Amino acid sequence: MQTLCESCQHLREVVTPKRSRFLMCLLSQTDPRWSKYPPQPVRNCAGYQRQSPTDSETDRS
Ligand code: SF4
Repeated sequence: MQTLCESCQHLREVVTPKRSRFLMCLLSQTDPRWSKYPPQPVRNCAGYQRQSPTDSETDRS
């Protein structure tokens, strides 16, 4: 199942040279309640904020 982090605007994806992939939570930089690398998958999170839709999704005039 997908993790909430994948659609959260606080996510920073980190890919190592060996192609390991880590999901880093940017909230951890300003709030100690969040882990830098939260255990996955995250299913509930008080800090979750959905990523903004892209322009193409909103520009339907
Ligand atoms: S705020 Fe929560 S959902 Fe968003 S990236 Fe951090 S841990 Fe994931």
